[in-house]
Amino acid sequence: ILPQKSIEEVSEDVEKWAKQRKEEIEVLQNNEKFRKEFLMNLAHELRTPIFSVQGYVDTLLGGALEDENVNRKFLSNASKSIDRLVRLVDDLDEISKLESGKIPIIQESFVIQDLISDVYEEFSLKAKERNIELLFKKGTERPIWVHADMPKIKQVLVNLIENAIKYGNDNGTITSGCYVVDDKSIYVEISDNGPGIAEEHLPRIFERFYRADRSRARAIGGTGLGLAIVKHIVEAHGQTVNVRSKPGVGSSFGFTLDKSDAPQRFI
Ligand code: ADP
Repeated sequence: ILPQKSIEEVSEDVEKWAKQRKEEIEVLQNNEKFRKEFLMNLAHELRTPIFSVQGYVDTLLGGALEDENVNRKFLSNASKSIDRLVRLVDDLDEISKLESGKIPIIQESFVIQDLISDVYEEFSLKAKERNIELLFKKGTERPIWVHADMPKIKQVLVNLIENAIKYGNDNGTITSGCYVVDDKSIYVEISDNGPGIAEEHLPRIFERFYRADRSRARAIGGTGLGLAIVKHIVEAHGQTVNVRSKPGVGSSFGFTLDKSDAPQRFI
């Protein structure tokens, strides 16, 4: 038999219980708020390219099809909007798989600089078109072995390097740095000398569909999900991602990874 509680103890328990319930309700309300906001943003993101395709197709059917001067242009614009929809659906698919934990993290050992070089290679043409240099920070070229899911970390690097090119200035520079933090962890940083991001946007930059400069980002053609995917992948590894930026100077996105020893055959 339990000893009887005093009135004070009982009322303390009740207060504790009420506080916990209040906190639980707040969490649920916040989740609901996020869900509503997400659906609203999604509808908006889908509407823009769909309306654009509808506009071009209607104009073509309304007579522009016969006009040799405009029909190809309209079809090519409609096709660009469809590309954008496809990218959006692909990114949404990726993010929902990551959120549901459906894709497991499969870790292996690899050299992080080699992966960055692969991604540089993939973007070399795009960078060249705008005379952007893709470099390694001096002193960080020495091979560093990491233990992580290689295809997913490649996706992180693709999203960060693609953004650095997309938002970067013509004739700019993108610099990657790889640092050993301690015997367990390493830090990777992708920096650009582009327009930078104003301080008020930084805390929300990794949220789905959040954009620092809405009209510019849309014109550039992003889905608004790239950094949300980066954050998901890095956190699924139990690691952290951060951003530092100064308007007019540039931006630096960095993340940590588990350090690995070089496999025996490489020693
Ligand atoms: P988007 O598809 O719009 O590029 P992201 O999630 O990849 O979406 O990025 C979110 C926003 O962060 C961008 O719209 C842009 O405003 C800002 N941003 C991301 N990377 C950079 C960068 N390297 N330089 C300046 N702004 C950036």
